[in-house]
Amino acid sequence: MEALILAVLSFLAPAENWGIARSENFVVNGPSREYAAEVLEQAEIYRRELALAWLGEELPLGEGPAIIQVRLSDEKDEAITWPINSRSREHHLVWITSKSELALGSTLAHEITHVVLATRFGDAFPHWANEGIASICDDERTKKIRSRLIREYAKTGRWPKLRDVLIAENISPTNQHAYTVSVSLTRYLLSRGTHADFVAFAQRGIQSSWDRAAQECYGFSSVEQLAAAWQSWAAQNPDAELEPVLLPAAR
Ligand SMILES: [Zn+2]
Repeated sequence: MEALILAVLSFLAPAENWGIARSENFVVNGPSREYAAEVLEQAEIYRRELALAWLGEELPLGEGPAIIQVRLSDEKDEAITWPINSRSREHHLVWITSKSELALGSTLAHEITHVVLATRFGDAFPHWANEGIASICDDERTKKIRSRLIREYAKTGRWPKLRDVLIAENISPTNQHAYTVSVSLTRYLLSRGTHADFVAFAQRGIQSSWDRAAQECYGFSSVEQLAAAWQSWAAQNPDAELEPVLLPAAR
């Protein structure tokens, strides 16, 4: 890990005005040492809380280590997490360009969710569920866009096809419809069962079929029956998106 981190950091880091903070789980590279230390502290909290919420236990120390690169920007809020040179996703690189408050808060929490899920499940976890879980952490502005879309679907009756989202091999960061469906379905299923039930559904769906998973995990006869139930719930709860999440707030 050590040589890899140094190689990646020397490639990423600007020559001046940058600082590093590190632990067993993360190496953070930010605009100053103090800021990197703040991001590190927050990343550790999210790693612990998200793993407890979704996996029912903390990840072992040092498993799935990530390099987090933060650049501050008043205009942009962009982030991505990807595996470093490894099919089993043992190491991750998280790149965040955002306002300070989001880089310590919702944007960081969203990306750490991806790190936690990838560390436990590798690629064997569906994209919609990965984004559905991570997007629960998103900021108010993004959530309001999704609530507005749900209202629009309910009004026009033109809902995106659930089956297409469930089987999507990738979700483009600009595909707000797929994000909206993913996070709304996640919220709906959490209203019907536990976090562990949801994770079991996501795993079963990708391993066997979504119809079987819907039947075995939630008692729906098919994806279409699940879609109808979700749509009627979402139409009645368009602001479910905005409900607070069980996550520690950024300082
Ligand atoms: Zn994401």
